[in-house]
Amino acid sequence: MFNGKMKAVTFSYDDGVTQDKRLIALFNKYGLKCTFNLNSELMGKGNRIPVREIRETYAGHEIAVHTLTHPTLTNCDEQEIIRQVNGDCANLSELAGYEVVGMAYPGGGVNYNHDVAEIIRHNTTMQYARTTVCSVNCDLQSNLLEFLPSVKHTDFYELFTVAHEFLALKPTEPKLFYIWGHSYELDFDDNWARFEDFCRLIANRDDIFYGTNKEVLLN
Ligand SMILES: [Zn+2]
Repeated sequence: MFNGKMKAVTFSYDDGVTQDKRLIALFNKYGLKCTFNLNSELMGKGNRIPVREIRETYAGHEIAVHTLTHPTLTNCDEQEIIRQVNGDCANLSELAGYEVVGMAYPGGGVNYNHDVAEIIRHNTTMQYARTTVCSVNCDLQSNLLEFLPSVKHTDFYELFTVAHEFLALKPTEPKLFYIWGHSYELDFDDNWARFEDFCRLIANRDDIFYGTNKEVLLN
């Protein structure tokens, strides 16, 4: 597991906004790996990165599904859920140049339920689907289609508390620290500097594997 290591760190960011470029520069500086969840029918709208820049922008990280147009899937019927996921998967796989295998549920609050997850399980090729409900721990999970991230990046108290606990661990079973957010949230307050402090703290540890979502969840 995790290239022979017992601990792994991964990141997951949604919506494909222009601030992702600054975030990727930060991740690359510290050797961190991220998965970016994109809406293929919204690219280039508002502050979202245009189609022509997608492959180059996200090179070295992972592109994943966030549905075609970002509906709350719990409000959609079965056919629409399948269309939103499979359509985005097909578009993104072509843009990325590899098969896209995972997703993050669009929308805030509790944006999924078991019925939606089972529709995705039985009608799409998605192998993992991240929710927005944080576990505030680093335990492995068996249901990857209702996956709970550890913490949200701008919940700095939880972020650093879990980070220090994780760094101190000498685990006998694999542990995964999974951080999610939107890069535009780092524009508020002094969040870029605080987030870089976190990256510096968690990076460059010999006992940690740094991988994209599929690299840490599907191995
Ligand atoms: Zn979103």
